[in-house]
Amino acid sequence: MNILILDPYPKKSYRISKDTSGGYGTGNDFGDSFLPKTLKKLLIKNSKWPPLFAAYTYSVLKKDRHNVVYDEELPKNYEFFDLIIIISSIVSHETEIELIKKINNKVKIFVIGPFASNNSEKYLKYNLSIIMGEPEIFFIKNKDFINFSEKKLISHDVKNFNLDELPYPEYEEMGYDLKKINNLFGRGKSIPLIATRGCPFSCFKYCVYPLQQGRKIRQRSIKGIIDEIKYWKIKYSVKNFIFRDPVFSINRKHTVELCNELIQEKININFIAETHLNILDSDLIKLLKKAGLTGIKVGIESFDEEVIQEANRHTATKDDQLKKIRELERNKIQVSAMFILGFPADNPKTVMQTINYAKKLNTTYAQFSVWTPYPGTPVFFEYKDRIITNKMEDFDQYRLVFKHNVFSKEEIRYYLDKAYSNYYSRLKWVFKYIFSKNAIY
Ligand code: SF4
Repeated sequence: MNILILDPYPKKSYRISKDTSGGYGTGNDFGDSFLPKTLKKLLIKNSKWPPLFAAYTYSVLKKDRHNVVYDEELPKNYEFFDLIIIISSIVSHETEIELIKKINNKVKIFVIGPFASNNSEKYLKYNLSIIMGEPEIFFIKNKDFINFSEKKLISHDVKNFNLDELPYPEYEEMGYDLKKINNLFGRGKSIPLIATRGCPFSCFKYCVYPLQQGRKIRQRSIKGIIDEIKYWKIKYSVKNFIFRDPVFSINRKHTVELCNELIQEKININFIAETHLNILDSDLIKLLKKAGLTGIKVGIESFDEEVIQEANRHTATKDDQLKKIRELERNKIQVSAMFILGFPADNPKTVMQTINYAKKLNTTYAQFSVWTPYPGTPVFFEYKDRIITNKMEDFDQYRLVFKHNVFSKEEIRYYLDKAYSNYYSRLKWVFKYIFSKNAIY
């Protein structure tokens, strides 16, 4: 069968990633003054990869000997294809709909991805089918998938699926440059990987990861992960890996086994991951470092504890945050701390406290984004009458989308710009960046 995987993006001057924020995507529009603009340009130039569910879907269909083409633009000869699979995400929603209108009734359409799965009403007025949940698993289990095109919503069960059955993504065949998949921490060719899916933490009310992956943790076997790492090392000389698990090391036993295997087999890789500070302790930090961990992303969210509590966030205490960040740095692991501005309970004082707290932590990287009630998450129902935009593409985590009690959308953009400008213009940060880089490479 001739299949087009269409992964459309709106034209923007900043990087749009559909792999972040649980597959809903983000648009890294840091601000418009000199430094945020420079950072935007750096990111758009150096960091690009497709959402993992799209890459897996491509590989599954290729393996089944379909003629599969992956493209970000609709080709002129699109009517040649028997099926067009649209990669959905909130940050490209209006762009997708324009294309769907064009293709509608000419070629069969499947839409995949967490955004469409959780906001099906936005698509169902067109003649198409939505594959709910994890599409790569659907395509592995259902070789007769085209017969499902009579259905509007296609559900399937992932419970007993062994994640080791996922094929390795074929990034280069899809047209991606492995050198650009670096997420800033890495250098040279890098590959996104998964060790686990699912997250049981309490912040599921506003987070989109559990929407797609569920709250139960599912993990790959250690052998499966090591085999994949070896494959990338041998075939493509890749040394840098980015674990894309919602919370890497959530199952300590599994992580310890993985690290021990990497050490014993002398695999010699660099990897980065995102996790929670309260999962890490001294022994685990040392082991992770020995296994190759060079950078870690952690959520700090806000300085103000009431703001965090009100939003039901899951974070470590301040003392613990500082202690663990310094311990990671002593072990020559770069830290990227993530902060959120514009929580419902935020005000100018708490936002400035968060920016100042970020400067105090002075991690190698700091990321500031804007609190966003995502459609499909439980928290959206509390905010649905206060949404101030009609465009889904505005839900990119870098602008205010609901009527805040204190801030206007311009004020939030002002603080966002200020956060990036203040943070990255300090001499103290410049030294931190230079010395932490030198420590690692
Ligand atoms: S810890 Fe919270 S924010 Fe992180 S992936 Fe899990 S539910 Fe989402």
